[in-house]
Amino acid sequence: MNTSKSEALFVEAQQLIPGGVNSPVRAFRSVGGVPRFVERGEGSMIWDVDSNRYIDYVLSWGPLVLGHAHPRVVAALQKAVMRGTSYGAPTALENELAELVIQTVPSIEMIRFVNSGTEATMSALRLARAYTGREKIIKFSGCYHGHADMLLVQAGSGVATLGLPDSPGVPGSTAANTLVAPYNDFAAVAALFDQYPDQIAGIIVEPIAANIGFVMPAPGFLPGLQTLCREQGALFILDEVMTGFRVARGGAQQFWQLDPDITCLGKVIGGGLPVGAYAGKREIMQKVAPAGPMYQAGTLSGNPLAMTAGLVTLRSLLEPDVFEAIERATTRLVTGIEKLAVEAGVPIQAGHVGSMFGFYFLKEAGSITDYASAKRYADPERYACFFHAMLEKGVYFAPSQFEAAFMSAAHSESDLQATLEAVERVFVTLKLANLQ
Ligand SMILES: *Cc1c(COP(=O)(O)O)cnc(C)c1O
Repeated sequence: MNTSKSEALFVEAQQLIPGGVNSPVRAFRSVGGVPRFVERGEGSMIWDVDSNRYIDYVLSWGPLVLGHAHPRVVAALQKAVMRGTSYGAPTALENELAELVIQTVPSIEMIRFVNSGTEATMSALRLARAYTGREKIIKFSGCYHGHADMLLVQAGSGVATLGLPDSPGVPGSTAANTLVAPYNDFAAVAALFDQYPDQIAGIIVEPIAANIGFVMPAPGFLPGLQTLCREQGALFILDEVMTGFRVARGGAQQFWQLDPDITCLGKVIGGGLPVGAYAGKREIMQKVAPAGPMYQAGTLSGNPLAMTAGLVTLRSLLEPDVFEAIERATTRLVTGIEKLAVEAGVPIQAGHVGSMFGFYFLKEAGSITDYASAKRYADPERYACFFHAMLEKGVYFAPSQFEAAFMSAAHSESDLQATLEAVERVFVTLKLANLQ
């Protein structure tokens, strides 16, 4: 596979942009090699600058649930762009998308659009603090909620509740208000409420821990957190930036019958353009300026192009059987991969819900239920081999084992077949590599 143009662009990019990329995982650091510079995408496929074609299971990290350059999205955007790209004044489009989200996601009564998932979670925490008058937040190690200071806290093993910053530049004083518990560990969360009575504004959680691969919530874990929040006067914040319109039409909250106080959205609701949103109960959302005192604003928030892409994407996704078809494709691919793994004797742990999935290569027998077990049992070297071998065969999975994968409405039966054939051949070589 010729990648000379990507290589040259990457050399140039590293002189211009830190690490050559505008978001770290794109740089292939955890799998090695040179990132492919993409020239175009259509349907289930992307083409790189050297004209190599790949079946894409990254889909811009989740937003493109209809696939790349969906004709309806493209046509709507072409019309919209002729009317101007931003006004800094309200439009009917914002009402339309707000209404659609409110109708579809069970707990949501009001919504505020922002420009990214990071802005959504950052604003949601401010709102939880404004509403409760409390300062501390609980998050889970390994859960990613964007890069706002108070959320870039993971804490290393042994200091699980100390809230040490994860990145230089995050003030210790900011991180000190972020308490961290292991994912799926309800007792640890209850202990934090005992330790900091009446100080915890809310819990923020990913309904599936999908930024460390694909870790499902243990039965009762999410409802338990919700109940605990209600008892303790804290807010239950569900970060559905990734799971929204993917786990089910109404998101993970519909799938697991949850009733969060605040929901964070992003990715799919922008249909591939920059959008985020925080949303929830009317009484809480009324605290947001100018209805209430909690300040939050944005020059490009509710941008007409972004609203248009989001609206067309959601409307298409909500048509009969569209969601179910993507779900069926996901099940077919993941069960196929699991079967091939068993046949090849390659131990993996796979999972899928709705149109999201993920799989780990295991280096020893064990079950991955949180960040610590993901680091212990997942085999990054084998994933790197798998990743590069699949790339060679024209299949683009995430360049890190600690990321989820996505299906779109554009992935056809022949895409799935081609993917499974490639997986079968790669598993055989992985198995051989293992025996050496
Ligand atoms: C992607 C993601 C974010 C951050 O969204 P950005 O648009 O990248 O800022 C936040 N939370 C979760 C769960 C995500 O997957």
